Amino acid sequence: MDPTYDVVIIGSGSVGTPTAMFMAQAGYRVLVLDALRSNGQGSNKHAIGGVRATHSDPAKIYLCSDSIKIFSSWKGTYGDDIEWHSGGYSFVAYDKQVEHSLKDLLVIQKKAGLNIDWKTPEELQKVVHGINMQGLLGGTLSPEDGYASPLKSNFAFYTQAAKAGAEFRFNEKVIAIHIDNHKVQSVQTVKGTYHCKWLVNAAGSWAADISKLAGITVPVRPDSHEALVTEPVAHFMEPMIVDLRRRSGSSNFYFYQNGDGHLIGCQTPDPQIWGDFQAETSEFLPQICRRLIEVIPSLKNLRVRRTWRGTYPMTPDGSPILGEVADLEGYILAVGTCGQGFMLGPGVGQVLSHLIQGNLSTEEKACLHDLRLDRSFGNEEKLR
Ligand SMILES: Cc1cc2nc3c(=O)[nH]c(=O)nc-3n(C[C@H](O)[C@H](O)[C@H](O)COP(=O)(O)OP(=O)(O)OC[C@H]3O[C@@H](n4cnc5c(N)ncnc54)[C@H](O)[C@@H]3O)c2cc1C
Repeated sequence: MDPTYDVVIIGSGSVGTPTAMFMAQAGYRVLVLDALRSNGQGSNKHAIGGVRATHSDPAKIYLCSDSIKIFSSWKGTYGDDIEWHSGGYSFVAYDKQVEHSLKDLLVIQKKAGLNIDWKTPEELQKVVHGINMQGLLGGTLSPEDGYASPLKSNFAFYTQAAKAGAEFRFNEKVIAIHIDNHKVQSVQTVKGTYHCKWLVNAAGSWAADISKLAGITVPVRPDSHEALVTEPVAHFMEPMIVDLRRRSGSSNFYFYQNGDGHLIGCQTPDPQIWGDFQAETSEFLPQICRRLIEVIPSLKNLRVRRTWRGTYPMTPDGSPILGEVADLEGYILAVGTCGQGFMLGPGVGQVLSHLIQGNLSTEEKACLHDLRLDRSFGNEEKLR
């Protein structure tokens, strides 16, 4: 007889692992399946660890605000150090167009309850020593945003999920989803079949392939991004800096200094590079180094330790796709978190746990409505 679970989650990544934790803590019998050897080994381990509630989409602001509460209270609640630090985020403006769009967004962000303000160049200089003042018009500062270690966080969620009774099966690729009478019945992997009431697709950049097995099309595509880490230097900056200027090869770029003094940064390739590419390129390093020096000229002698590449699970509007779908009972999407799956993961997991418990708050219902599969995808996230 094949085993039966309340919930089977496909993917033990940034989203699936905290979702398993919240569902197991709520008393459900949970199984997590992952094709890789351990938790957090998909895109999760490629994330640089930025966590912000500073978005343009109110649903993302809400979910990430919840995530920040979870990340920032983790050590006090569970004891383990996930390297959380509330250093803030600063979106800087070196031209009028960026200044205007950031100031327009401040209205939405403040209305959604974010602690965020516009800072003068002199005020930014106090939290980012050595920032290039030439042409700097100011920028936003949201001090409650921060960063944490994606590997340590995922391991912490995994540990608490397992403690609450969730089972994890690794090296088990999902190959079929069995449906009867518009209802999910079971999931088949290379090793076995598992019955369930709810099936959560948290398969990240590979979510569209999984969803195809259930006959549901989801517009999620792997979008390749690279990152770098430098040698450590004495602490000189607090917030993550985001520079939205378009430059040759990239449409924006962001970096922060972690607790050990390393700078960790990323850029959005321009044009985007679609596909599940994971090998570093020779173009990336000279491009991002130019961008780093443009914002902090004194970094010109800093040595880079390594670069790596992974994928964002990208959607057409830059926002995730969450919740139930029409015509297939028991199927739940937790997909398309784009470049923000690490920061969205705990907030998403908490909401989806409330969904299956049938106790969603009014705000959570509004989030799931805004992020449903059958939306128009016309309302683009401005701070991707
Ligand atoms: C360079 C870079 C920097 C980034 N920086 C940040 C950042 O600062 N902050 C942030 O929030 N996000 C960041 N991201 C984005 C973040 O990494 C992703 O949004 C996030 O990891 C997606 O989470 P996920 O759980 O959906 O996918 P994943 O973490 O990839 O998990 C999906 C899991 O599903 C499994 N799976 C897939 N198919 C199957 C199958 N058939 N059977 C079984 N298992 C399967 C995979 O093995 C994988 O483990 C960054 C990404 C990159 C590449």
